[in-house]
Formats: sequence, C-alpha cells, structure tokens
Amino acid sequence: MDTIIIDGKALSKTIKEELRGEVERIKENGGKIPHLGAVLVGDNPASESYVRSKVRSCEQCGFKSTLIRKPANITQPQLLSIIDDLNKDEDLDGFIVQLPLPEHIDEETITLAINPKKDVDGFHPVNFGRMALGLPSYLPATPNGIMEMLKRYNIETSGKHCVVVGRSNIVGKPMSILMSGKSYPGNCTVTLTHSRTKDLKEETLRADIIIAAIGIPDFITADMVKDGVVIIDVGINRVEDETAKRGYRLKGDVDYKNVFPKASHITPVPGGVGPMTVASLLTNTFLASKNEIFD
Ligand code: NAD
Repeated sequence: MDTIIIDGKALSKTIKEELRGEVERIKENGGKIPHLGAVLVGDNPASESYVRSKVRSCEQCGFKSTLIRKPANITQPQLLSIIDDLNKDEDLDGFIVQLPLPEHIDEETITLAINPKKDVDGFHPVNFGRMALGLPSYLPATPNGIMEMLKRYNIETSGKHCVVVGRSNIVGKPMSILMSGKSYPGNCTVTLTHSRTKDLKEETLRADIIIAAIGIPDFITADMVKDGVVIIDVGINRVEDETAKRGYRLKGDVDYKNVFPKASHITPVPGGVGPMTVASLLTNTFLASKNEIFD
C-alpha cells in the first residue's frame, strides 16, 4: 500500500503563512492585530519550551504576544488576580495559562476563571459544552489540529468507524465528540476506548480511523490494525536513546515502523500532530480578534 504521511510540520507552516497574510492585510487596513497572552508559572522545562514556541509562532505570524512569567510559589489568589486583569484587558484577544500548574494551585479553579470569550485553549466548560452541542466554540488545540489535518488531506470520514484510544479531556474525549459530529470531518461511528476497555484489539481491528492518545510508546502494534487504516498518533513519549544528543528521542503511541505498511495515511512523531497544536492556538487567537465565535 502507498502510505501517505500526514506532514503536520509542513501543514502547520502553511497555516502560519496564511495567518501572516491575513495579518498583513489587517495592518494595511488599520484593523486590530491579534494579540495572545500566555501565563507561565514556575520553571518546568517542557512548559518553558511550549510557551517559547507559542510566543515565537505569534511573532512569525505578525501577532502581538504578551508573556507573563511568575514564580512557582505564586499564590492562587495572586494568579486569579492576574487572570482577572487579562480578562479585562481590551487589547488582548485571548490568553492561555500553561498547564501543569504547581500542586497548591487548583487547575479547575483557574480554568473556570478565564473568560470563555478569551479561552483560546478551549478548556473552559462553556467552550467544551458549545463544542459538544455543535455550536461555534474555541476548539481545544490538539483536536482542532487533528480535524484540520483530516480536512486538508481530504480524508473521507463520513460513515467510517473511528476508534479513539484514550479519554482525556484535552484529546480523547473531545475527539470522540468531534468525529461523531454532523459535519466534515465527522459523521463517523465512534468508539471511545480507554484503560478499562476489555478487548482493545477487537475494537481497533474494526477501525477505519484510529486516534491514539494514550501516552505509552509503540502501544498500537501492527497486529491491532486492519489494512487501509488512517492513523493519527497523538502520543509524545520520551524514550531513552544514548545516541541522541539529548539522551532521549520522541516516540508516538503507535509502532510507526510496523504499522506504516498497513496504513493509508499516518502521522509521524515528531512532525505530526504536535506542530498542529500551536497552529490551532494561533487560529483560535485570530478568530478571537475578529469576535467570530461568540458574537
Ligand atoms: P492522559 O495521559 O491524560 O490519559 C491517557 C489515556 O490513555 C487515559 O484516558 C487512559 O484511559 C488511556 N489508557 C491508558 N492505558 C491504556 C490501555 N492500556 N488501553 C487503553 N487505553 C489506555 O492522555 P493525554 O493527555 O491525552 O495524553 C496522551 C498522549 O498524547 C501523551 O503522550 C501526551 O504527551 C500526548 N499529547 C500530545 C499532544 C500533542 O500536541 N501532540 C497534546 C496532548 C497530549
């Protein structure tokens, strides 16, 4: 089978270039430049690198960005007060609070404090509920990126059987809702599987599309998939590799090498879903600057 690699890195670059073009037109017409805020608490290296990449991507697209850094010992009331200021800041179209937060801060309280109109991460229950109802909303970045990949590669989804592996609130659960929705991509018959699923292989073998968001390297093996399957691999797992510069390399949740020959389409790791996540955040910020979701 001629397997098509879904190139998330290239696609994300294309989306950023499109956004840059839009921003240039806005500038020429004297309109509002999209402005994203990011709050980074503590010094978790992974969070640092994610936020850096988000800010850099804003620059690439001509967006404004504001980064607010706070030490890990910030109190919850202090963080809530910052969110209140960002909610009221009229120039700021949307903002994110990078997760995870230190243990003494309740992530749910923080998420609930963000004005849903500025919730470009799409984590607020108002946005999640609107998504579930099929109303315009800020879609969570990773699912949004996956939908865009399916769309731009013209992958047929209507009437297909989609098996989602993993039920997290940021990936698995929203993916199951979006893929069963009455639109394109969507209109799938969806099976949402998780750690308590009795016979996972029986489920994945029936799948036309598999969305893997588990967090275990090489978990989906070739014997678990049928020929012609579309594979979306969300996993980002660090595995030790002494030959790699950093001492580790990134692997997905799918045994890429052995699943590849059976797949009609497959996303690599790295370079697949990951880069699309940032592109989606920028798209949401752009939509926020145009007030298109809630008005
Ligand atoms: P999570 O870590 O919150 O949960 C894992 C899910 O896997 C759970 O719902 C659990 O039920 C399921 N699971 C665990 N063991 C299983 C088993 N044996 N059989 C079936 N299901 C099982 O999930 P998450 O936050 O969605 O993260 C999943 C992976 O995706 C991680 O590697 C994470 O780093 C990655 N991720 C990548 C991006 C991206 O931008 N590419 C974004 C978010 C998460």
